[in-house]
Amino acid sequence: MESMRCPACSVMIGVTHVRFPHFACPNCRSEICIPSRYLFKARLLGAAIAFLGCYLMGLSGAVLVVCGVLFSVLVGTMLTTAGMVVSPPVVEKYFHPGSLGLKS
Ligand SMILES: [Zn+2]
Repeated sequence: MESMRCPACSVMIGVTHVRFPHFACPNCRSEICIPSRYLFKARLLGAAIAFLGCYLMGLSGAVLVVCGVLFSVLVGTMLTTAGMVVSPPVVEKYFHPGSLGLKS
């Protein structure tokens, strides 16, 4: 199985090292992050599962929306963590907003 690796030094990154929105590589201290499109997919899937689950539990109207949103956060977080083990994302270098990536 593929593992998450630091884009700078190629050291393996364990799930326990991952922090959001970005974190330092345990080996070279580079600022790295999980791609936002990966998190977006996990949250989108989490929201779909959450709303479907609430709907199947018989919730409707405002209760369905409130519970759906709450469970979306929960399921999305679980999927993000589980996804990093099952289907590890490509870790990217983190650029501080506004730096335009000019800082190496
Ligand atoms: Zn590194």
